[in-house]
Amino acid sequence: MGDCPVAVVSACLLGRCCRYDGGHKLVPGLRRRLEAAGYHILAVCPEAEAGLPIPRPPMDLHLAPDGSVQCLDADGHDHAPLLLDWCEREVACLSQNPPALFVLKSKSPSCGLAQQPPGLFAAAVRQAFPSARFTDDPALPELP
Ligand code: SF4
Repeated sequence: MGDCPVAVVSACLLGRCCRYDGGHKLVPGLRRRLEAAGYHILAVCPEAEAGLPIPRPPMDLHLAPDGSVQCLDADGHDHAPLLLDWCEREVACLSQNPPALFVLKSKSPSCGLAQQPPGLFAAAVRQAFPSARFTDDPALPELP
C-alpha cells in the first residue's frame, strides 16, 4: 500500500454480500472514486469478521440501565461483547497505519455514524482515530 492514505469502507458499500439479509449495498463508482483520489481501500465488515453468520438475524442497539450498549437480536441475544471484542482487535490492527478516511454504512448497529447510540464499530474508530474524516454519505461530495 506504500504511502497511500488508507480509507476504511463498509464492505457492503463495495458490493460484498455481507449484510444480515445476505445482500449488499453497492454504491456504484465508490471504489473507483476513492482509488482515483489516491486512497488504498480497506473493506471491512465488522459483523461478518467478528464471526456472525451471513445471513443473520437483524439486530438493534439498546441502552442498558447501567449505561452499556447492547446489540440485541429478536431472541434477546446480546452480540455486543463479541462485536466489541472484535472492534478492539481491529482498532489495534488499524493503528499500525492509521486510516485517513472512514466511509461507513448508515443505519447499522455496527457501522452507523449518525444514529444514537452510534454503531459499535463507528464509535470505536471515532474514538481511536479522532483526526480521521468520517462520512456516511457514499456520494463523497468533497472528493474530486
Ligand atoms: S456490519 Fe457494516 S459492513 Fe457489515 S453489512 Fe453491516 S453495515 Fe455493511
